[in-house]
Amino acid sequence: MAKVLPKRSEDYSLWYNELVKKADLAENSAVRGCMIIKPYGFSIWEKMQRELDDMFKETGHQNAYFPLFIPKSYLSKEADHVEGFAKECAVVTHYRLKNDENGKGIVVDPDAKLEEELIVRPTSETIIWNTYRNWVQSYRDLPLLVNQWANVVRWEMRTRLFLRTAEFLWQEGHTAHATKQEAIKETEQMINVYADFAEEFMALPVIKGLKSESERFAGALETYCIEGLMQDGKALQAGTSHFLGQNFAKAFDVKFATKEGKQEYVWGTSWGVSTRLMGALVMAHSDDEGLVLPPRLAPIQVVIVPIYKTEEDQQKIAEVAEKLKKSLKLKRISVKFDDRDTHKPGFKFAEWELKGVPLRIAIGPRDLENGTVELARRDTKEKQTVNIEGIESVIEDTLELIQQNIYKKAKDYRTANTYKVDTYEEFKTQLEKTGGFISAHWDGTAETEEKIKEETKATIRCIPLDAKEETGKCIYSGKPSNKRVLFAKAY
Ligand code: AMP
Repeated sequence: MAKVLPKRSEDYSLWYNELVKKADLAENSAVRGCMIIKPYGFSIWEKMQRELDDMFKETGHQNAYFPLFIPKSYLSKEADHVEGFAKECAVVTHYRLKNDENGKGIVVDPDAKLEEELIVRPTSETIIWNTYRNWVQSYRDLPLLVNQWANVVRWEMRTRLFLRTAEFLWQEGHTAHATKQEAIKETEQMINVYADFAEEFMALPVIKGLKSESERFAGALETYCIEGLMQDGKALQAGTSHFLGQNFAKAFDVKFATKEGKQEYVWGTSWGVSTRLMGALVMAHSDDEGLVLPPRLAPIQVVIVPIYKTEEDQQKIAEVAEKLKKSLKLKRISVKFDDRDTHKPGFKFAEWELKGVPLRIAIGPRDLENGTVELARRDTKEKQTVNIEGIESVIEDTLELIQQNIYKKAKDYRTANTYKVDTYEEFKTQLEKTGGFISAHWDGTAETEEKIKEETKATIRCIPLDAKEETGKCIYSGKPSNKRVLFAKAY
């Protein structure tokens, strides 16, 4: 196995692509922009799904499923929405193929043209709100708290494994409420759920904030987001939660009778995270040897590698390993005993390092005599000899330490790479020199935002929710500003 990765410091982008492939997370497919998620990568995504799904259910949501196809007329009912998505839609026009005239090839049957074209969903607001019209009559039917796990298609021109693909997997929550306050509360609740998930499970510190108007979701009145900082100083939007106001209710005529018997439009939200989170996970923690996975999302938390010369030792070690595996399973720790006799221990060490398994246990003949094992941490690469008696709690504690350590490392990195600047010159120099998050005053206009983007490629990642009121001057126009916003180059 060719395992050597390019170094992050030399070519971060190549390092990322190679790592995703070599660690068996995903690969490019024959279809441009669409990826194949391999079993190891998918098992991490499944863990993410499970945790998020639990969090959604704990906050009162239920899962449902809506069609992959959306009639073209639905998409155009909300003006901003269609405008935002029109440029990246896959459209189904026909429903049949036929043999061509020579009988050799196959062509689209012109007689099988759809009366109305179907759009492969880029997001499902329209088809869901069209359904909600039938589900909501009175205030007793509200709130509707629905989530869908699905694939969507956005015809992206520049794609990268996990970070931006034409087809991606995600969840999309779509909720309907009787009041504006309740819908805003839901929007905020879900951005908090995402932030908690990112921090507690992915060990990824995130900034919660609001998008500027030009970065807002098409059809939303307000977009909340979480933004993380990757190891190359670029930002990544990791999740969004939208307050839709009554836009979709009006477009699809979703009204309800209030307690007083008045007819009113419903208030809406939608929120989503995608397989992009996999990219964030890789970029936030991994190193030149491979993945570094947070224990709470690692499909294999502990790997046991036997080291032996004789068959007798092999058997004895296997006995110890199987027993240890059982007792760790009782503690709900996932363990792999790598007893392949087709590969040498050194090869196995490198492979599990590449795949980011948080803890490695090596057991050799000397350990058998001493009742010990060698325990190695993936994050710090520290090794220690540990008594096998009572090792379960050592492992449990160490996994927790690793989880905390990689979070802290990522947070320290972010702190060290967040800069306050007060002039445009400083802004440009800092951006060029270090990248990172740059906190600066902005006059609040789309023109200034666009100019800065054009000249530096940096965008406003968000207006942090915890930004303090502060009088200052816009770094670009010099106009007054009362808050700093966060700029960065982003994925
Ligand atoms: P949106 O519906 O645009 O708010 O996006 C919902 C979530 O999907 C956000 O967390 C985005 O970061 C993510 N996302 C958007 N476009 C893509 C894409 N092409 N590939 C992967 N994830 C995406």
